[in-house]
Amino acid sequence: MPSLTALVITTFSRRMRLRLADGREVEARIKGKRLKPVCGDRVSAEEIPGETDWLITAIADRSNELTRPNLRGDTEVLAANLEMLVCVAAPSPKPDWFVVDRYVCAAEGMNTPAVVVFNKTDIAMPDTSLADYGAIGYATVLCSTVTGDGLDALRDLMRDRTAIIVGQSGVGKSTIINALVGEDALKTAQISDKTREGRHTTVNSMMLSLPGGGAVIDSPGVRDYAPALETVPQVIRGFREIETAGHGCRFANCRHLREPGCAVKSAVEAGTIAARRYESYRRALRLLPGGPA
Ligand code: GDP
Ligand code: ZN
Repeated sequence: MPSLTALVITTFSRRMRLRLADGREVEARIKGKRLKPVCGDRVSAEEIPGETDWLITAIADRSNELTRPNLRGDTEVLAANLEMLVCVAAPSPKPDWFVVDRYVCAAEGMNTPAVVVFNKTDIAMPDTSLADYGAIGYATVLCSTVTGDGLDALRDLMRDRTAIIVGQSGVGKSTIINALVGEDALKTAQISDKTREGRHTTVNSMMLSLPGGGAVIDSPGVRDYAPALETVPQVIRGFREIETAGHGCRFANCRHLREPGCAVKSAVEAGTIAARRYESYRRALRLLPGGPA
């Protein structure tokens, strides 16, 4: 059987739905135990004679992957080949900007643009924390799925990209996805999930097409987790204003904690680096697997 290139658009544990180049969507299983395709992967797949299932035989190199620590302490890949990470916060549940920073940090490590969204502006507006992201060059959006405010701005930012939406549980990610994708597209996706109820485990991740072009990945895996950060350089790189200011430190390997001649600490004291972001940076260092920095 000839092998075709396909895009993984839904994963249910070891089963996947693929979109072929001609637009057809097919169901597939995976050859062998070692291959672990995720939503957003480009794969090689072939028809299995006499079956409706296709077989995934290889995964193309990924441009990036979003990972999280799993319960066994390994890292689990949630999605691959992302072109944008949209991190949502809201007045309720109480915003945990540290979680936002960990996601933004992960986006930097993935070389993918991060957008910080503050949803539920019908309830309350954000404190100065949101402006801190704008000041260091991230796109920010204020929106409400109740009033519809800001949704066009978010649509414009996401157009023609494959994005994943992340953030604490309850901030409104599913509601935002519904608003972006449109009831019809979401219903269609949900109906085709129903047909497999009982046959497979629940959906892990799903890529939904945006009406204006582009796609958004809905992954239950990002509802209550923040990504694992592993090394000091990774954390530094993830806080772009700290990385930039750090070029002025006396020591090239300055961790910006207690070292003399630290340009980062000076910038925090001068107020050019937000104290909250710096605190978040220190917290990320303290949480590194190697122990307290
Ligand atoms: P998720 O866990 O991040 O996917 O959050 P959901 O989309 O399930 O939303 C959680 C709750 O917030 C639901 O009760 C939504 O109706 C509500 N919600 C979502 N967006 C808004 C909004 O803009 N304003 C208000 N007031 N509530 C919202
Ligand atoms: Zn320093």
